[in-house]
Amino acid sequence: MSLNNSLPVEACIYCGSNGPFSAEHVIPAGLGGDDKRFILRGIVCKKCNTDVFSPLELEFLRKSPAALGRIFLQSEGRRRGKGANPPKLEASAKEMITPAGYAVEIELGARGRPTILPQLVLVGDREGVSTGSEATPLREYIDRTQTLLGASVVCVSKDPSEKAPALYATTYTWNGDQYVQGEVRLVLAPPTPSVWSTPLKPNADGSEPKSCARMFLRGNGQIVLKSTEKLGIARALTFFRKLINQTTFEQMTEQDVENRLVGISMSFDIAVTGRVLAKIGVNLLAYIAGADYVRHPQFQRVKRSIATGVPAFPLHSTEQKLPIANIFSGLPHTLHGFMIAGIPTPGGTCALMLHARLYGSQIESVLLGEGLPYLNFSNNTFFTVDYEAHRIERYEMMDFVRAFPFNFPRPSAAPVGQLIP
Ligand SMILES: [Zn+2]
Repeated sequence: MSLNNSLPVEACIYCGSNGPFSAEHVIPAGLGGDDKRFILRGIVCKKCNTDVFSPLELEFLRKSPAALGRIFLQSEGRRRGKGANPPKLEASAKEMITPAGYAVEIELGARGRPTILPQLVLVGDREGVSTGSEATPLREYIDRTQTLLGASVVCVSKDPSEKAPALYATTYTWNGDQYVQGEVRLVLAPPTPSVWSTPLKPNADGSEPKSCARMFLRGNGQIVLKSTEKLGIARALTFFRKLINQTTFEQMTEQDVENRLVGISMSFDIAVTGRVLAKIGVNLLAYIAGADYVRHPQFQRVKRSIATGVPAFPLHSTEQKLPIANIFSGLPHTLHGFMIAGIPTPGGTCALMLHARLYGSQIESVLLGEGLPYLNFSNNTFFTVDYEAHRIERYEMMDFVRAFPFNFPRPSAAPVGQLIP
């Protein structure tokens, strides 16, 4: 531990006030930060901690893309302050609750990004919604579903009571007004085309889900119908057929892009991620280089951004982040990775960046400052956080590479469109 941290000092490293001070986790406890080591004492004031950082971290842990990783992967969330709302992401069912209060189907993308699957949702008993993360796949999905919900449609399901891998293919026929159940056959593989049908369970308290039927496109190309037992498959299919045929796609797109897609995307506030990461970066610097280092005036800008969100942190493109992603490629997803990267600049100064990979997700990078005094440690310093065990480790570049040898993602993991020009 740096000696500087244990000495009494006069000013809060963030706002310059004279205290009172409180202990500050270098890495937020909710992200798996250490409770015993990596604590800043006597240099972060209580006001910054309570009025600024606590609400910021709470929002980050709930509403950022990282929140999704946290819910999925971090088995033991920490108990936060009283009056806290429960997380709005459901792990087991891979559902996300929209701001309007109903569940939609999601999947985690290649780099852990949450994707709202293209889908049709029945909300309550009459409101239909089409939603997805992007307009083009949604349109393709709607077209496919329209073809699928024709004069007859085959639904395939597994009998949960049977041990044998038996599949039941049930034909539903359109009678001019609704689908009616017909022949049931035992099949070895789902016929093409068909809809995979799976029951939607009641809520934990026994009540019916607000979105009682969802028809969606899985990443593997399979169209899936989830419906409650109360509603039944025939009525769900009937509803979706009517919804598709009564709404033009133009109307849907407009409504979805304006109200649903953007609404959902906006609930993940990217600015919050930048602010939390920048604070982790400044905390790490205070921890390894001492409080006086981060009191340098060149840190004013980043501190203002952390406190107010203005100016906002620029987002870095995937291309810029690729070399960093490669450096972190050998790090298991059970560890967060942080890298303080120093870039030498003219006049013996340096620029400092924090690169972070949380829950094995995509790399996020923030600029901590420019024109800073050169640091006396190596250019790149790494920290890993075992978020289950709440343990932080520090590595210099070569030690990090030895501990987590690079494991570049194979090109096949990238979308085909990016490989073939
Ligand atoms: Zn302060």
